[in-house]
Amino acid sequence: MDLPTYADVERAAARLRGVAHRTPVVTSRTADERTGATLFFKCENLQRAGAFKFRGAYNAVAALAPEQRKRGVLSYSSGNHAQALALACSLMETRVTIVMPKDAPATKVEATRGYGGDIVFYDRYTEDREEIAKDLSARRGLSLIPPFDHRDVIAGQGTAAKEMIEEVGALDVLMTPLGGGGLLSGSTLAARRLAPDCRVVGVEPEAGDDARQSLRRGVIVTIAPPRSIADGAITTHVGTLPFAILRAHQTEVVTASDADLIGTLRFFAERMKLVVEPTGCLGLAAVLSGAVDVRGKRVGIVLSGGNVDVAALAKFLA
Ligand SMILES: *Cc1c(COP(=O)(O)O)cnc(C)c1O
Repeated sequence: MDLPTYADVERAAARLRGVAHRTPVVTSRTADERTGATLFFKCENLQRAGAFKFRGAYNAVAALAPEQRKRGVLSYSSGNHAQALALACSLMETRVTIVMPKDAPATKVEATRGYGGDIVFYDRYTEDREEIAKDLSARRGLSLIPPFDHRDVIAGQGTAAKEMIEEVGALDVLMTPLGGGGLLSGSTLAARRLAPDCRVVGVEPEAGDDARQSLRRGVIVTIAPPRSIADGAITTHVGTLPFAILRAHQTEVVTASDADLIGTLRFFAERMKLVVEPTGCLGLAAVLSGAVDVRGKRVGIVLSGGNVDVAALAKFLA
């Protein structure tokens, strides 16, 4: 297996310079007092298109050969990856097709169209999106850029942790949300090089702890689609490349409940004036619930995204 390395993260950082935002790292005395740790929050909720996904998407499109870019790219995702990829493609004048479920939220469809993406709808109960994407990519000569199981996507996602550690110095613990594992595995590559003694911990929704099960058993475990408000992390299984990286580097996995996510979302809004989507709250939620012991430690937490629609936000805050 051809796994990405830290050199790929460095190449991604060079491609993203001046294109992705170098997002701020913020601190909170209240959060430090509550946890007995020194916490650093990397604000990818303020990234372009509202999530770290822009890093991996842009890096993957930029890494294509010019003739591949001319033919166009394709992906399947109804979430932040679709918007990020559509934005990346509009910046590079590349056509993008997104395979989306017929019942995807209108706001997500609109956002993807707004960035110039073509959408192919499918029925999520009777059709398989990966099959449809493979077929389209073969027939139209489009390059498939999946949301996490791709070396340039993983390398791009690792640039957020790279920036954070370069800015604040070595960390004792680095925490990120975990869905398919692109963010966590890219972050692991950055941390292993820049802060070799740092524990790297992924946090997945309690309702779907497939990654924790997979690391325990040593094989990728697939579960039924979990129900959680962390809609960016309700994957049924981790990717093959992320899994190999997480295993090789002893990356740890813990979980957080939806109730903890809502409490954390409110903390960000009320105390830190930050809008963080439920999935982006996974890291701090696991710290506040005590799933990871951070007392006296320097802890980096990636706030992975801020895309929550206002009606849902109002409900969580009520
Ligand atoms: C996609 C996403 C995640 C999970 O990232 P993976 O690379 O799939 O593990 C976490 N948070 C947000 C906001 C996301 O959009």
